[in-house]
Amino acid sequence: MIALEKIREAADEISDVIHRTPVLTSSRLSEQTGNEVYLKGEHLQKTGSFKIRGASNKVLKAVREGASHVVAASSGNHGQAVAYIAGQAGVQATIVVPVDASPAKVAAIEAYGGQVVRCGLTSAERIPEALRIAEETGGVFVPPYDDPDIIAGQGTAGMEILEQVADCEAVIVPVGGGGLTAGILCAIKQMRPEILVIGAEPETADDTKQSLEAGERIAIGPTQTIADGLRTSIPGELTFPILRSHLDRLVTVSEGEIKEACKLLFQYTKQVVEPSGAVSAAALLSGRTGIRGKRVVAVLSGGNVSADAFAEMLRT
Ligand SMILES: *Cc1c(COP(=O)(O)O)cnc(C)c1O
Repeated sequence: MIALEKIREAADEISDVIHRTPVLTSSRLSEQTGNEVYLKGEHLQKTGSFKIRGASNKVLKAVREGASHVVAASSGNHGQAVAYIAGQAGVQATIVVPVDASPAKVAAIEAYGGQVVRCGLTSAERIPEALRIAEETGGVFVPPYDDPDIIAGQGTAGMEILEQVADCEAVIVPVGGGGLTAGILCAIKQMRPEILVIGAEPETADDTKQSLEAGERIAIGPTQTIADGLRTSIPGELTFPILRSHLDRLVTVSEGEIKEACKLLFQYTKQVVEPSGAVSAAALLSGRTGIRGKRVVAVLSGGNVSADAFAEMLRT
C-alpha cells in the first residue's frame, strides 16, 4: 500500500493544476441497475482523463528537484497528460508514440507542446527508446502506472470520492495497468475499509482477471479492445500486489457491453465518455458486480474519443 500521507501530499501538490471533477447522478441508470448510482466524472478532468493526477504529481516533484525534461512512452491519455503538465511547469516533454499512432492523438500531444518521437509498434519497443532518450538528455522517465508517485496521484480521485459521496458503499474502477485502481484502493481501504472496490476489465484484455486467478502476474498476448486505454498485456509489478490483497471483485465486460454503456451514458446523462472510461458503467449495467440496493460510484475515467469514433458507436 502507498501511505495515506503520500496521497494527501499528492493532493496538495496537484490541487492547482487539476480539476476537482464533479459527481453526476442518473435516476435512469439507478433504476436500471437497482442501485443509487453516482458517476465520478474524470472524463471532465484536465486533458480529458484522470491520468493528469499521477502525471502531475510525478512531474511537478521532478521539476522541483531540478528536472528540465520529462519523457513518456504513450500515444494515449498518459502521453497527453505528461505533455500538458510539462508545458505548465515550463519543462520539455518528449513523448514516444507507435509509428501507427493516430494523427489526432499526435496532434493533441503537440498542441500541449510535447515533442513526438515515433518508434515501433509495441510498448516493448517504445519503453526502451523512452528510457534511452531520458538517459541521453538527463530527463526523467514518467511511467503510466507502475510508480509510487503515479499511484499516489491517482489515489487522490479515491479521496475525492469519499468527500463527495457521503456513505458510499461501493466503487467500480476501470482496470488497465492498475494504477488508478491501486491508488483508489490505497485511499479507500485505509480510510473506509468496508467500502467495496470492484475492478472492471474488457473480456478481451483480461490480464488482471487471469493474474488474480493465478495469484501471480500473467502476461497475455496482444489484445484487441475498443477500450484502448485498457490494452495492457500484464498488470504492474507495484500495482498488482495491491490489487491482489485489497480488490474485492473483478468483473469482465464484452465489447458490446462497453459500446452499450457509452451509448446509455450519452442518452441518460448527455456525457461523452470514451470506451475505457465507460467500462465501470458497463460492469454495473451487466448485473455481474453482485451489487444491488447500494450507493455505488462508477468512475468514468476518461472522455477522449474522436467525433467519428463516437458517432460510429452511437450508430452500431
Ligand atoms: C489509462 C486509463 C485507464 C486505466 O488506468 P490504469 O491506471 O492503467 O489501470 C482507464 N481509463 C482511461 C480513460 C485511461 O486513460
